[in-house]
Amino acid sequence: MTKWVYSFGDGAAEGRADMKNLLGGKGANLAEMASLGLPVPPGLTITTEVCTYYYDNGHSYPAELEGELDAAIAQIEASVGAKFGDASNPLLVSVRSGARVSMPGMMDTVLNLGLNDETVQGLAANSENPRFAWDSYRRFIQMYSDVVLGVDHYHFEELIDIHKEEKGVDLDTDLDADDWKELAAAFKAKTEEELGKPFPQDVKEQLWGAINAVFGSWRIERAKVYRKLNNIPEEWGTAVNVQAMVFGNMGETSATGVAFTRDPSDGTNEYYGEYLINAQGEDVVAGIRTPQNLTKKARVDAGNDKPSMEESMPEVYGQLADVFEKLEKHYRDMQDIEFTVQRGKLWMLQTRSGKRTAKAALKIAVEMVEEGLIDEKTAVMRVEPASLDQLLHPTLDPDAPRDIYTRGLPASPGAASGKVVFDSDEAEAMAKNGEDVILCRVETSPEDIHGMHAARGILTARGGMTSHAAVVARGMGRACVSGAGQLRIDGKAGVMTCMGREIKAGDIITIDGGSGEVMVGEVKTLQPELSGDFAKLMTWADAHRTLKVRTNADTPNDTSTAREFGAEGIGLCRTEHMFFEGERIVAVRQMILAEDLRGRKEALAKLLPMQRGDFVEIFKIMHGLPVTIRLLDPPLHEFMPREENEFADVADAMGVDAAVLKRRASDLHEFNPMLGHRGCRLGITYPEIYEMQARAIFEAAIEVEGDTGETVVPEIMIPLVATEKELAMLRERVEAVAGEVFAEKGKSVDYLVGTMIELPRAALQAAKIASSADFFSFGTNDLTQTAIGISRDDAGRFLDEYVKKDIFAQDPFVSIDQDGVGELVKLGAERGRSTKENLKLGICGEHGGDPASVEFCHGVGLDYVSCSPFRVPIARLAAAQAALKG
Ligand code: ADP
Ligand code: MG
Ligand code: MG
Repeated sequence: MTKWVYSFGDGAAEGRADMKNLLGGKGANLAEMASLGLPVPPGLTITTEVCTYYYDNGHSYPAELEGELDAAIAQIEASVGAKFGDASNPLLVSVRSGARVSMPGMMDTVLNLGLNDETVQGLAANSENPRFAWDSYRRFIQMYSDVVLGVDHYHFEELIDIHKEEKGVDLDTDLDADDWKELAAAFKAKTEEELGKPFPQDVKEQLWGAINAVFGSWRIERAKVYRKLNNIPEEWGTAVNVQAMVFGNMGETSATGVAFTRDPSDGTNEYYGEYLINAQGEDVVAGIRTPQNLTKKARVDAGNDKPSMEESMPEVYGQLADVFEKLEKHYRDMQDIEFTVQRGKLWMLQTRSGKRTAKAALKIAVEMVEEGLIDEKTAVMRVEPASLDQLLHPTLDPDAPRDIYTRGLPASPGAASGKVVFDSDEAEAMAKNGEDVILCRVETSPEDIHGMHAARGILTARGGMTSHAAVVARGMGRACVSGAGQLRIDGKAGVMTCMGREIKAGDIITIDGGSGEVMVGEVKTLQPELSGDFAKLMTWADAHRTLKVRTNADTPNDTSTAREFGAEGIGLCRTEHMFFEGERIVAVRQMILAEDLRGRKEALAKLLPMQRGDFVEIFKIMHGLPVTIRLLDPPLHEFMPREENEFADVADAMGVDAAVLKRRASDLHEFNPMLGHRGCRLGITYPEIYEMQARAIFEAAIEVEGDTGETVVPEIMIPLVATEKELAMLRERVEAVAGEVFAEKGKSVDYLVGTMIELPRAALQAAKIASSADFFSFGTNDLTQTAIGISRDDAGRFLDEYVKKDIFAQDPFVSIDQDGVGELVKLGAERGRSTKENLKLGICGEHGGDPASVEFCHGVGLDYVSCSPFRVPIARLAAAQAALKG
């Protein structure tokens, strides 16, 4: 037979902490605390199965419920020595909802249930405190009317205000027993007026009313919305807890409070909490009175003069501290606790694992290992990988004053201050002079890459979380606030305005890409702490993961950042970003706009030493770690001159007329460049471009091996391959260049040639393509675009709606679409390995730094993920968690 009700109290319980599914989080932990012998007011939990029954059976209850409930209430009565509904010695209870996970939106707790016009007299007589009794009664009428009967609480607050005004007092504490008695009567009358029937006096009717309200609240709109947002299934249901009341409002030796066993904001191993003397339950959070500090130290640090609990109730405080120690040892985690003191006696009302910031999570996990409370694996599992992002960037000093100018989207984390610049060239020039700049644009485009790179932070007036600015800034690890909609930017005039406040070029602002705030002037920032706890946790993570973590890095600068963050190689070095640097762009444009092979070769000859120089630097930084270099990929028009002066520069260098160049440029126009003349298609039509790049790579590798004595194994990657022939042909070219260079230098290096799998056809044909490949790297950005047929640059207009309507659970560019794109990755991996058993497999899309995608890659059996430098630690931790989950 199903058991519907579980009792707890007096050092014993029918439930346990691991029965959260059945008893809800609150009920399971109350049972556990009771079993531990902690002082828990006795009570009962009606299971979540009753909730399920209630909805499956037209809002009715199992036949046995009433009997079980009565028996459990009788047990509480026996324990407390009072009777529910008894006029002279009444038992009062609280009715509390409690799902498996804490869920805002569920029914609020009702306290003091069991009071009516008769029992309130008994309570007054027994407690010898009529003020307390009438205060409790009016609180009950207020809460019950609001929460169960749906009479808005402001009605009652209004009545209190009127009463205080008539009496000429300011504070609730100035009201005496008679005042509360009068108010209780007024409250009842108000409820009757609103509902057309009297406030329920029958205590059993009160109890069932509250139980119905809890189960009913499981399906109210705000609870449904919350569940949807947090992926909590409908069928979980909620439990109901009925618990004997203890009173923190019985006078100066009574109090109520909340506490964390460690500081939830920074993790410091010190009790953290607040309490209020002569108060009940929600008063602490409600903010009617200002709570006092729990510990003396916190009080002194905060400069408060009202005594801490440690000072005002030293004995109870001592007991509370013992309970904290006991609970932490038992749960092996930081706890969030509710307690009440009734006339000098401590009662525990709730415990659960405390929510904490990333900083606190890290510190607590590491310190608990050192204290012997948890093992390293548990510590690794305790820190949310994505939350590390908050720790890897500079943050605003929380104590520094801020003058908020405007707000936008928190597009890329980190805080940065600098001079306002509206133009990317200027940003670059000023940065070269050692100045910190914030690039402010209406929106950004690929033309702004160098300016974004030079800037400390980027602010845009338009564009969402997946706008060019946001995506590129995240990749570069630059702070970015995007879509600050109230901002009017006039770059030409050199000013921006917001709500009438003007900021000129050269003025200093601060942006916080973690919160989206934009501030006037410089706000002090704090640098991330990468040694200490962070380093320890990462070492433990590394010991448990099997996936390697590489980085996507194009510049020596990014490469060294990534090395500091623990990258084990470069999974994607995009050669085209090198083309934008300084003077090179002119040579690149010359190559693109050349009329013929001879012209192109001339331009390529200029580029060769520059590319070789970059590779030399990168190989040196990586000290023999693998480096995957992708040959030229983007459509050529991305490099095209736009402005008059840019055409003039190229025309100069080539010794031709600018008009000729413009004609050639318009010939190159493409209708759909993403699917146009790009990737290996460039290599097939202009083999000399890839040949130059291959030569630069081999020459650099030989040079570095000669200089350092370290082995360099370049991995040359051919992009956008759809057919085995493309790869076979290009591989032959690369091998031919290798042969030439090795012969010239009289020295050779080992190298790999592989391809990106970023077109569905390539994934399908992976078995054949693998015969010409030493490795595959899944380019999941393009694979997502081509598999779903969505252009990332245009997705902003509809993708949000798709996610809201649950067509996609998540933005497929942020977290890999496992059913579609992921299926292609899986298939490509399997088919590739069916040809070559030890084909090296990796992924190099943005997904490489997304924890859910990393877990997916682990499951598919890839060798490595590659992500932007700042996400390397996130990927390391996510990979460890994936391995530990098994
Ligand atoms: P929530 O989930 O919103 O915290 P709770 O059920 O925990 O709701 O309770 C709301 C407040 O009422 C808390 O401050 C809690 O400590 C207090 N409370 C709940 N039950 C009792 C009780 N039996 N005696 C005294 N205070 C109680
Ligand atoms: Mg609570
Ligand atoms: Mg691509």
